[in-house]
Amino acid sequence: MKLKFLTASALALSLAVTACNMPAADEPPRVLAEETTALFADIPAGTGYFATNSELPFQTPDFSKINDEDYEPAFMESMEIHKAEIEAIKNNPAEANFDNTIVALEISGEMLGRVARVFFALTGSNTNDTLDAVNAKVSPLLTAHSDAITLDPDLFARVKAVYDARDELDLNTEDTTLLERTYDDMVHAGALLTEEQKEEVKKINTRLSETTTKFGVTVREATVDNALVVDTREELAGLSDSDIENAAKAASERGLAGKFVIPLQNTTQQPLLPELENRDVREKLFKLSVNRADQGDSNDTRLLLAEIASLRAQKAALFGEPDWASYTMYDRMAKTPKTALDFMEQMVGPLAETQRREAGLLNEQIKKDGGDFTVQPWDWYRYANQVRKEKYDLDESLVTPYFQIDSVLENGVFYAATELYGITFEKRDDLPVYHEDVTTYTVFDADGSELGLFYFDPYQRPSKRGGAWMSNFVQQSHMYGTKPVIYNVLNIPKAAEGEPQLVSFDNVNTLFHEFGHALHGLFADQNYRSIAGTATARDFVEYPSQVNEMWATYPSVLQNYAKHHETGETIPTELIEKIEAAAKFNQGYDFGEVVEAALLDMKWHALSPEEAAAINTPEAVDEFERKSLEELGLEIGLVPPRYRSTYFNHIFSSPAGYSSGYYSYLWTEMLDRDSRKWFMDNGGLTRENGDHQRRTVLSRGGTMDYFEMFENFAGREPDVTPMLEARGLTGDSE
Ligand SMILES: [Zn+2]
Repeated sequence: MKLKFLTASALALSLAVTACNMPAADEPPRVLAEETTALFADIPAGTGYFATNSELPFQTPDFSKINDEDYEPAFMESMEIHKAEIEAIKNNPAEANFDNTIVALEISGEMLGRVARVFFALTGSNTNDTLDAVNAKVSPLLTAHSDAITLDPDLFARVKAVYDARDELDLNTEDTTLLERTYDDMVHAGALLTEEQKEEVKKINTRLSETTTKFGVTVREATVDNALVVDTREELAGLSDSDIENAAKAASERGLAGKFVIPLQNTTQQPLLPELENRDVREKLFKLSVNRADQGDSNDTRLLLAEIASLRAQKAALFGEPDWASYTMYDRMAKTPKTALDFMEQMVGPLAETQRREAGLLNEQIKKDGGDFTVQPWDWYRYANQVRKEKYDLDESLVTPYFQIDSVLENGVFYAATELYGITFEKRDDLPVYHEDVTTYTVFDADGSELGLFYFDPYQRPSKRGGAWMSNFVQQSHMYGTKPVIYNVLNIPKAAEGEPQLVSFDNVNTLFHEFGHALHGLFADQNYRSIAGTATARDFVEYPSQVNEMWATYPSVLQNYAKHHETGETIPTELIEKIEAAAKFNQGYDFGEVVEAALLDMKWHALSPEEAAAINTPEAVDEFERKSLEELGLEIGLVPPRYRSTYFNHIFSSPAGYSSGYYSYLWTEMLDRDSRKWFMDNGGLTRENGDHQRRTVLSRGGTMDYFEMFENFAGREPDVTPMLEARGLTGDSE
């Protein structure tokens, strides 16, 4: 995963963390004009640590000099400075041009960026009550600050003047991209609307905020209310003692002492279903889950979600777009809902076939187990787990002794990067860190010059939120002469004192994944920070990181790092093959439920205002959902979507959220699997291949069309087949 600090546009804050058809070398980067810097000359400088660049190498934050008390005043002061800079840009008597408007905007808010990058890094990875309180206080202020800039009509008038004259300006490709992004983001926020339309949008936004909040609250209540209640312990046969104890405790907490309660999780499938031996209880639990929020009572969300879909379609129409998805996808790789839908529909055939094949396999297992019924969704994982155990008996504890963390990082992740790109790493201990478990490395380019700095923060701790992510302390920019300072944060359980620090195979993959983001950031070769490195589209940013996972199981890389911590013996290939074979199992369900949810998301958001308005009864909502999935031929009776519309929080519980974006992970997986195929077709792990990938993709940031980028890399358009093969959806796999 890749961390985005704020929803605020890159335009306003240049905070987004994460390349033109022409190689950058052919186009000398624009230098910072005197006209631009002179604009801000009269604005008083800030005070305190964040007022100036750090004096440490790479301008990396000097954690020995930063106190928790520094952040709030630094935020307040730096927002004031940023406002003054925006005023200076707006009130400049000179005619608007690229340097005095677009570049000036890009470099404004320097101190704010500096404090925010450090602050949000720490609230994620090493927070405390003070930082949390500052976060709660400044987050709404930052959003308002950013909105005020994006929606400033006088500022937009200057941006538009430059944009309208763009054909006559002497701009290189990166300049043009910066100009277009600045303009597009402001237009997307409403800069081109009439006053009347702006009022309409405000009304819709207010109503959207109310309805989406209500959706979230109602789903939460429906989820609580639909918990399974049983009277006897016998009905929970198959569950562990601790699960049963928890169920008894959950019951007493609800005033049902003596009974047993299993609360629902967010997803359609429920984690305890496979263990429950009593089939009737399984069915009851599953139906409580899948029928949540559609029972015609006060917890019914169907009319709410229909209104949300309708409001979004109306808002899109005010912007001249046919539907909400078209409105939100303006800066994505896929660009249009049709592209995303066509992509997903290509999977439907093989997926439906796999779903039927897997159901057949599970029906055999049920018979073998003495059952006299055909598989239903509430039986699925119980029997899938049995088959998995028989076919891919894999004991994780046999694998982890081969994955010692230092070796995974230095002999695995770094080694693969050295083989591919010629870059090398040198551990250093002279830089202050924000926690004693954090290590730092200087990264050197193939020619021996310094490329950037890398921070590695691997272990779980209470002050760190869950998951894994990458971001920058310092962003690369030729204009400023800065090199990237990048951190990877993970949540690996820390070994007890004196024990070897081993990691699971999942975490090995996560290490390679996050370092894929790091490479994308390290190879940034841009003039402007807001489009440098990983500052790319939501349906593109996970692509380089996913590709980097391929080297985790690449034979020569494995041989170099996966050595038993006691014997030094290299991991046996059968073990890796078993892991990989197991990964293809049960994809008709695992992958199917995700594709169905992504399809539902896109279908709801590809409606015209008229179509959306026609879905105005609870029954019409059911019908639309059923038709959207069934018409495609998916086995939705056997494999329902991961979230049904009525409890699909990702897309309906905030004004925009992940709406028309749930497909992104599938999309980047397609790019990833297709790229792995390209590597394998061209000789695998070689410098030539790595350099080609760096030149065409990893060094390009967000400076050009993503399809063009992919085609420059692969020599053709992306193809969905390798992903289907990797998922075992091509019919020839077991
Ligand atoms: Zn990622």
